[in-house]
Amino acid sequence: MRPWDIDAEPAGIKPLVPFKTSEELIEKSIACFTKLRPFFGECLKKMQELKHLDLESRKGKAPGGYNCPLAESGAPFIFMNAAGQMHDVTTMLHEGGHAVHSFLAHPLELNGFKDYPMEIAEVASMAMELFSMDEWETFFYRCNRSEKS
Ligand SMILES: [Zn+2]
Repeated sequence: MRPWDIDAEPAGIKPLVPFKTSEELIEKSIACFTKLRPFFGECLKKMQELKHLDLESRKGKAPGGYNCPLAESGAPFIFMNAAGQMHDVTTMLHEGGHAVHSFLAHPLELNGFKDYPMEIAEVASMAMELFSMDEWETFFYRCNRSEKS
């Protein structure tokens, strides 16, 4: 056993399938955030309505994932390359944490107050990953919670 072996899955372990389409990722992320606090779900719903969620990987799309605050409307934009993996869920929840932070910072009077350093920005996103963990079952059950997906 070497240190690099601990990242490997034992033979026969099936990968988690938390979602199949970007629409399902959005729907489950909204449900997860809403259970945590309705305002968090409303933030993602508003971004969905404005088509500010570009989540699915596609040929020719730039790699990576980020949340981009938009100064005029206050509704940020999330860009990522989801492919149905558990890592995509944590990326979405992380970027969703940045998005909630963007919504909360938007009404601040001075732009200088919204220009926080990365150490502060990552508090919101990484805290959202941790806060939402109690609701991650949302990604493995249908919305009525009685059936396994
Ligand atoms: Zn981040």
